[in-house]
Amino acid sequence: MKNIGILGSTGSIGTQTLDVIRNNNDLFNVIALSGNNNIELLERQALEFKPEIVAVFNEHKADILRDKLFPFDIKVYSGLNGLIELAKHEKIEVLITSVVGMIGLKPTLAAIESGKDIALANKETLVTAGKIVMNKAKEKNIKIIPVDSEHSAIFQSITTKEKKEINKLILTASGGPFRNKEKKDLIDVTYREALKHPNWNMGRKISIDSSTLMNKGLEVIEARWLFDVEIKDIDVVVHPQSIIHSMVEYIDGSIIAQLGISDMRIPIQYALTYPKRIFNNIRKLDIIEVGNLTFEKPDIETFPCLNLAFKACEEEGTMPSVLNASNEVLVNYFLNDKIKFYDIPNIIEKILLKHKKISNPTIDEILYSDSWARNKAKELLKL
Ligand code: MN
Repeated sequence: MKNIGILGSTGSIGTQTLDVIRNNNDLFNVIALSGNNNIELLERQALEFKPEIVAVFNEHKADILRDKLFPFDIKVYSGLNGLIELAKHEKIEVLITSVVGMIGLKPTLAAIESGKDIALANKETLVTAGKIVMNKAKEKNIKIIPVDSEHSAIFQSITTKEKKEINKLILTASGGPFRNKEKKDLIDVTYREALKHPNWNMGRKISIDSSTLMNKGLEVIEARWLFDVEIKDIDVVVHPQSIIHSMVEYIDGSIIAQLGISDMRIPIQYALTYPKRIFNNIRKLDIIEVGNLTFEKPDIETFPCLNLAFKACEEEGTMPSVLNASNEVLVNYFLNDKIKFYDIPNIIEKILLKHKKISNPTIDEILYSDSWARNKAKELLKL
């Protein structure tokens, strides 16, 4: 039995992780669950999986849940400290970080510090603090196993320990709901249209990021740190079928790829069972039915966010944190009909230009630049 903690169990990845665990209850034991607002679901999960502790970020909601779970001998922690305590819990062997946002950073670092392996699904961890996190993981000799489909594909396609044998990483992108559209078609597009993703069923924030290609940009930054490759050795290719989840090109000209249907439970399961593979009832890919796999160059004129991410990654330091934080604020405004589609890249670019970069930042400096960027975004929008 592997002892599992889930940071963010009520979201899209969290619930799918519990689905994998539910189907393999002889292999995994849930020690801890956490959520933010949806305490009704968190309560149901706690009663089903019987963890030792549950953490709720929202203090008031934590109080409500504490009363409800008291008869079942399940402790309820609260606030950021509660999430950090959860991450450090002595029984946890693998922590799944499926919480969304910067809130995931400190708990993830605390888990690494206390020697736990990480099944990484929180984007902000590597985007904002990739250098610190990967150095800490090396120092503590723990594994960071990616959950995101692209990084899982690359992780599975790296067959060598010799880094010099790798020529480049090729991340695939579906192209999102606005593939083949031109700038003029998207000027007045709304978040409702942006939420209609062709292949993947995902949360709202990541669906918008997928429509602007910022999601791919953030994944490029993550890949740069996770696999320790230079940004110039990472390519993005649009692959509308989302069958190849990413590839690795070697110096001899061979490309190794991972293929499968678009179901996040496959990479989630692999992150939990790695290095083993186990059976599941998920539909297998029928390559005859798929027929054709196609590839296109990403349209960086129509989707400027991708290039902004490449630039921020190249500049390093606090630039990726500023990119990420301003994007998060702007996506939120877009989801509330307050700004237009192209305000997202336009304002991010302005904020990046205004930012005084800190090289080799500490965690506090990363968090500072994050809130600086959020304030700047609000200031520029005058909202
Ligand atoms: Mn992805």
